Amino acid sequence: MQAVSVTNGSPEPFVGPTNGRLRAARFLGVHVALLVAALVATPFLRLLPAELAGLHHFGPFIALALAGAIALSFNRSRAAIAIACLAGAYGLHAGGSLRSEDAFTAVFVAVPLLLAGISLLRERGVFNRYGIRRLAVLGGVVAFVAATVSNGTWAWLAGAHPALFEPVFGGRLSLVAMLAVVLAAAGAAWSLWTRTTSIDAALVLSVLAFGTGGLLFDLTHGYGWMIGTAAACITVGVLQDAYRLAFVDELTGLGGRRALNEKLLTLGDRYTIAMVDVDHFKHVNDDFGHDTGDQVLRMIAAHLSRAGGGGRAYRYGGEEFAVVFPGKTVRDAVPHLEALRTSVEDYRMQLRGEDRPGESDEGRVRRGHGSRSNILKVTISIGVAERDTRHQDPDQVLRLADQALYRAKNRGRNRLSR
Ligand code: GH3
Ligand code: MG
Ligand code: MG
Repeated sequence: MQAVSVTNGSPEPFVGPTNGRLRAARFLGVHVALLVAALVATPFLRLLPAELAGLHHFGPFIALALAGAIALSFNRSRAAIAIACLAGAYGLHAGGSLRSEDAFTAVFVAVPLLLAGISLLRERGVFNRYGIRRLAVLGGVVAFVAATVSNGTWAWLAGAHPALFEPVFGGRLSLVAMLAVVLAAAGAAWSLWTRTTSIDAALVLSVLAFGTGGLLFDLTHGYGWMIGTAAACITVGVLQDAYRLAFVDELTGLGGRRALNEKLLTLGDRYTIAMVDVDHFKHVNDDFGHDTGDQVLRMIAAHLSRAGGGGRAYRYGGEEFAVVFPGKTVRDAVPHLEALRTSVEDYRMQLRGEDRPGESDEGRVRRGHGSRSNILKVTISIGVAERDTRHQDPDQVLRLADQALYRAKNRGRNRLSR
């Protein structure tokens, strides 16, 4: 049987990319926990010993400087610009400028919307013309907002629409600022939903922390505390993003080679490793293009990510994957691996119009009888091995699994060998 085939028939819904939304929810959870922890700690701020009282004033600057340094050294422009906004907003307070009602409202309208605007930008690094252009735009916005405060625009707006400038919850934050915070949080949440990066989650929470800072403004040091919390969220977001870059394979969303190497070091006395390789994958690339090849890899990764029996899938490199079963023997793992193999074999992948083989001779041959073909089927071969007394090192077991994979290929592919 041919391992790569194009047939007629109805496709199955595309599975994957692996758990993007779940990942976004997890990032959001971490940042929500940070904000909640900061809120719970708020009543204890006054317990800071007298010798450390300076932290109330300088702590937020220290948190911002740390966050800014981390954002710059990881070349994350969105985080760096967000920190610049927060630093400006805290600096205005430290300099006494937020005592003016107009300036206060302008800052609490502009900063959340700026943070949301930042979340909509693409990451393009700091030290290049995009970074400089973005800083220039930020400077322009700040100058514009400052001008509207000093020329009395905000005072005039407050006179014309008093209801919008009513304070909410009896504090200093006005309804219009509250609306800006809610709108900005929704915008940043939309970015998180579509992009699912940890920095987007951090930006959602930095908007909420900043808004909370407005609500807590009259509480001594409440504002600075929330600015520090927003800076902490952004720091954690940048670090999570760096972790993802290092350990998660971008194409498939599975753990990459580094993640696999770390996993191998944690395994105990019993484990099984499977090596998985796509059959005739070169044909997929040659006949349908590299994009379809990538789509196939994502589809296979999505199947492998649902391995049963506690199996954890990684992209080993190219079109090869590894599935690790901690605490399991080959006997335990085989049924789960066979289930993966057959689920890939049975999966009917929809080809987009431009992926279909053209009217070349080869295309006609691949498509069989010249029919309108739009379903691609691929298969995988699997080699599996377990730790035993002669092969105690995970690298040795991995090599055994690779040798078993070779045998699966030689025996005709689309099968499992041990
Ligand atoms: P076999 O059944 O023996 O495994 O045949 P094969 O064609 O799958 O094996 P081979 O190792 O010759 O080809 C692997 C191909 O995988 C070659 C390379 O172009 C392709 N490849 C590796 N990484 C990627 C990737 O990230 N995306 C795409 N689209 N192709 C990739
Ligand atoms: Mg290969
Ligand atoms: Mg292959």
